[in-house]
Amino acid sequence: MKKVFVAFLFAAAFCFIAVLPASAEGYTIRLGGQDRFEVAVNVSKKGWTSANTVILANYDAYADALAAAPLAYKYNAPILLTQPGVLTAATKAEIDRLNATNVIAVGGSASISDSVLSEVRKMGLKTERISGANRFEVANNIALRVGKSSKVVLAYGLNFPDALAIAPYAARNGYPILLTNTNTLPGSTKAIIDQWGVSQTIIVGGEGSISRNVYNSVPNPYRIDGRNRFEVAANIANKYFSTRSQSSIATGMTFADALTGAVFAAKRNEPILLTTATSVPTETRSAIINNGYQSFFVYGGPGSVSEGIFNSLAISVVGKTIMIDAGHGGTDPGASGYTSGGTKLVEKDLVLDMSKRIQSRLTSSMSKVLMTRTGDTYPTLNERVAKANSSGADIFVSMHVNSYSTSSPHGTETWWNSTYESADSQLLAEEIQKELIATLGTYNRGVKHGDFRVIKDTKIPSVLVEVAFVSNKDDADLLANSTFRQKAADAVYRGIINYFNKQ
Ligand SMILES: [Zn+2]
Repeated sequence: MKKVFVAFLFAAAFCFIAVLPASAEGYTIRLGGQDRFEVAVNVSKKGWTSANTVILANYDAYADALAAAPLAYKYNAPILLTQPGVLTAATKAEIDRLNATNVIAVGGSASISDSVLSEVRKMGLKTERISGANRFEVANNIALRVGKSSKVVLAYGLNFPDALAIAPYAARNGYPILLTNTNTLPGSTKAIIDQWGVSQTIIVGGEGSISRNVYNSVPNPYRIDGRNRFEVAANIANKYFSTRSQSSIATGMTFADALTGAVFAAKRNEPILLTTATSVPTETRSAIINNGYQSFFVYGGPGSVSEGIFNSLAISVVGKTIMIDAGHGGTDPGASGYTSGGTKLVEKDLVLDMSKRIQSRLTSSMSKVLMTRTGDTYPTLNERVAKANSSGADIFVSMHVNSYSTSSPHGTETWWNSTYESADSQLLAEEIQKELIATLGTYNRGVKHGDFRVIKDTKIPSVLVEVAFVSNKDDADLLANSTFRQKAADAVYRGIINYFNKQ
């Protein structure tokens, strides 16, 4: 069951973490805060009950911290943020809570001043600084601390999204993140690659970020491409996290939440997908749908990732695979009945129309929808069953309209079969029927057990919906109306959501 609760952690308004009880079926949890310091602290609280080491980075300058995640992962250390001149109070309190004994500051004294480190030492901790003449050298020096590796990641050093999107994968595998300019590989970076005898280089980003020239100058390069930051992050998820059912998501517009979330995501073996504040980019949606991500940590407050996005991720059908079967088709017209508005009502057309409307609703909610047919064709019943059984789909919904030899029978019914997934099939039928009746106001013929092939032989939870009767004048007039068919599709959609909510 996918539930979302909001708990107020502190008295301060707007500083919250949305949490939910442990559940195998799905969660959507926001690790928020009123600023990036608090987001980092809340990520740390969620991920660590204690930590010997804390990585400290400047809150406003990503350059020094881009390569920090593999180091943080190595020491099982959260990444916290500070102002350059003074140790930020929330961060100081978190270092205390963690019972840390060691702070590693990434960046020079312009990023994190000596007085910040001296404040840390006054708390009784040891401090250490990893710096360098420029961002490339900072990354190199971090890499030397991560340790020699035959595989390295090379990311564009003058912007943050690509380096942060690869961070969970790099960190988890102990691959240092090295940085480069677009057209020239810095000499000190090349020197490390040479010294280590690197045998594979993962290049993150398109040729606009890392040129073919740089690509050709490193050992055995493999490029994770993308036309924009969202697509690069999506492609990383597709490549390295396709078997996972969970993901993190952070704003792609600023660096801080993805930076501090990266090591948490690495610990959880999940990718970081990127978003804008108010809508989930197409590339990100595709990654969620195609990889079947059903559970999410959202880093940052509603200003970074809106409540609208949070709520859309929390819908129970996100990441689910749903097969919709438009009954009949092609040479099999199914039932036909009244002519309404000059058109003879034919079942195969009505159910294809409603099936496509259901498909549209589910796709908008980031479900993967498989259709047994999308045009006027006739897959045999065996083919439909075989497709359902090999699809890996979570559920199967067959759409029909009814008819009878006399005109009086009317109303809506939903069928299930007890051969496979009996309880879930019945539940799915009940939830869909409930929504159909409430929405359409048609006569309730009830939920029924039946032996139709597509629900009897389908091994996943499956139902067969008979929306209304084309052989009844009043029902036929309703079915002829596209608004009614949309309402029917909406009702099936909501029934499916309610079903997954009860899982
Ligand atoms: Zn039918």
